[in-house]
Amino acid sequence: MSIIHVVSCSTGKDSVATLLLAAGRFGTERVRGILCDTGNEHEYVFEHRLYLERATGVRIDILTANFDEEIAGKRRYIARDVRTRREYATEPVFDAAGEPVLKRDGRGNIVLNKKGTPVQKTIKVGGGKRVRWTNKAKRRALAVLQPSGNPFLDLCMWKGRFPSRKAQFCTEHLKRNMAVEYQLALIEQGHTVVSWQGVRRDESLNRRDAKQFERVDRNFFIYRPLVEWNVARVFKIAEDKNIEPNPLYKCGMGRVGCMPCINASKDEIHQIGIRFPEHIAKVAEWERLVGLASKRNAATFMHKSSGKGLNNQQIVAASNIHAVVEWAKTTRGGKQFSLLTALEEPTSCASSYGLCE
Ligand code: SF4
Repeated sequence: MSIIHVVSCSTGKDSVATLLLAAGRFGTERVRGILCDTGNEHEYVFEHRLYLERATGVRIDILTANFDEEIAGKRRYIARDVRTRREYATEPVFDAAGEPVLKRDGRGNIVLNKKGTPVQKTIKVGGGKRVRWTNKAKRRALAVLQPSGNPFLDLCMWKGRFPSRKAQFCTEHLKRNMAVEYQLALIEQGHTVVSWQGVRRDESLNRRDAKQFERVDRNFFIYRPLVEWNVARVFKIAEDKNIEPNPLYKCGMGRVGCMPCINASKDEIHQIGIRFPEHIAKVAEWERLVGLASKRNAATFMHKSSGKGLNNQQIVAASNIHAVVEWAKTTRGGKQFSLLTALEEPTSCASSYGLCE
């Protein structure tokens, strides 16, 4: 059996550069692109996938997760649930000198957050409150908890919440698991798989130590050809081959991913609010449904407010997607409304990569 080069292709700049490198080196027969359809993609992503298939000759398969079984299991769980548990508030711990006490793991090492900053130790305070499904909450959740066929929505209905930076389960369930399953199927057919990933070390702290090459198993390898590249070089390879970038870059999006992504910047949210209000309306409807399917009768897509001292309905009022879009219109700090922002026309090019210059 042959070696298959599988390129994760979101249709964003890094994955397109990776696809071009793979096709240039091994030809279109031995290279396959995969695009995970999260159910929260902009339509430009699918248009660009077709364009890329035509322009490069590489087949790009769409992978879609399905949560029908998980939702059926959750329905059974809610209907039967009679457990009670307690949920506690926490507060940070300081030493006698008033210095923060740092959190340590089981081996005594200081725990770091994603930015590499030490995490402060916290302790439980108060007696906590009982958390369980009331009969009213059960009726409310069971009335809406049905598979919709949209992977992003179904995942959140199953989990009873939206993903967050600390619990980014969307990437795992909608992308990573799908890509792994696809590649394992090829290995089971007897192929050797090289997984090409368009990761750059200068993208984020999490990626600063990304390895260029890894051997996962006897017939499964990972190759990251862009680890030392910068953004300019990534765009240049596409330009040299006359490949257009995804139109989303010209709409003020810093990256191609979910529309919106839970990690979208304030400016991206602002741009989405202006240019793609239908995607904001979609998220608002998802907030309603996931809220109904959750134990607390509340869920927000973004997590703008820390929620400290607020009840569920106050958190929803502060952080629902329409409130976040309004906040994104404000200048730094979020209090003052920017006149310039309010007057901005959606027709202007706002690419953070200067593509139209
Ligand atoms: S991290 Fe953002 S782009 Fe990735 S799956 Fe989650 S919402 Fe989508």
